[in-house]
Amino acid sequence: MTEDMKILVLNAGSSSLKYQLMDSTTEEVLAKGLFDRIGMSGKAEHSWSLGGKKHSAKLEIENHEQALEAAVKVLSADGGVISSFDDISAVGHRVVHGGEYFSTSVAIDEDVLEKLDEVSPLAPLHNPAAVSCIRAARSLMPEITHVAAFDTAYHQTIPPKAHHYPLPQELYDKYKVRRYGFHGNSHRYVAQRVSDLVNIPLRDLKIISCHLGNGASIAAIKNGVSVDTSMGFTPLEGLMMGTRTGSIDPAIVTFLMRQENLSPDEIDNLMNKKSGLLGVTGISSDLRDVLDAQEAGNELAKLAREMYAYSIKRYIGQYMAVLGGLDIIVMTAGVGENSPVMRAAALAGLEHWGIAVDPWRNIEKSEVFKDGLEGEYKISASGSRVKVLVVPTNEELMIARDTKALL
Ligand code: ADP
Repeated sequence: MTEDMKILVLNAGSSSLKYQLMDSTTEEVLAKGLFDRIGMSGKAEHSWSLGGKKHSAKLEIENHEQALEAAVKVLSADGGVISSFDDISAVGHRVVHGGEYFSTSVAIDEDVLEKLDEVSPLAPLHNPAAVSCIRAARSLMPEITHVAAFDTAYHQTIPPKAHHYPLPQELYDKYKVRRYGFHGNSHRYVAQRVSDLVNIPLRDLKIISCHLGNGASIAAIKNGVSVDTSMGFTPLEGLMMGTRTGSIDPAIVTFLMRQENLSPDEIDNLMNKKSGLLGVTGISSDLRDVLDAQEAGNELAKLAREMYAYSIKRYIGQYMAVLGGLDIIVMTAGVGENSPVMRAAALAGLEHWGIAVDPWRNIEKSEVFKDGLEGEYKISASGSRVKVLVVPTNEELMIARDTKALL
């Protein structure tokens, strides 16, 4: 292993590609960027930051391979951070679904690719894009190790009583219909971070991790492993989200299909893209817009805000029971990191269970840690038995670390 190993982390969507180039020793981000609208003739856009400067360009990008070539071109231009693909030591790929095959990140070979194809029906929008990007990256960088890091892997420790659905058993046998859970790299990262910050080993902690972004999920973590999580067979289950319903009575699905004459695709679209904060308010999926509308007196915005907070509180109650106690609640992602209003609302009234948020710390971010990173702070009150921490997530770093470990 050389000193200045550079690891490229890739996160591919069907028409997008996010990347970060990281120094594996210092864990410094050397450059990062995003391609949007890949394959939409002439409309692709590349935005990237390098050396503290932001850039963007419109260009013709037909596929992930061309995107990778364009990325390396800008990263190796004057004053760049690499001179060619040869300077990249390994690539870590974010893959949404690993099915039941993968409980950790793995080095990619043909067998792994076959398994990824096999589980593609479980994530038809995400996995094929990741596989196409992996193939492109391997053909451009055939000599180096490529690693797959799965959103589902961390939750493979969830016991059968929590991951099995009470459906006829043959449907599990046939389709592997069960809870998988997502955001695994994020939950794993923040759990490790809070353990470091409070200086107590993960194996001695009971943690509830709240990843509240556009997609949102909560995980119950005991002795360092995930024992339950709110997302299920797909990311639709669990919390109310920006545009997703989260858990609802499943009979509503068939009722609406009949009443509104909806096809499977239409009901799927309704529940994934038109519900949640957006559906209830008719205004926006962005919590900031909903909070603004509430301030302006919009009643539906007030209702949506209350529903969103209530859905988080419900899971916290459930997971305290699941864990048989609680040491730390950690809040992360867009809402968790940036919304004192939602953090306070979700945790209000839990003093009886030893959870007390300090309103001042919550807003002022005053209670930082000695070795804390930017954005990491404690918002629980001094006497609160359960510590409540805000920790910015870093899934890319988790993927880079796994990649390095597999070299
Ligand atoms: P993604 O799941 O797309 O990665 P993020 O983790 O970036 O999403 O979270 C995005 C969401 O975070 C936005 O939709 C917005 O609702 C919320 N958010 C970001 N900043 C704030 C803020 N200051 N107050 C309230 N909500 C915020």
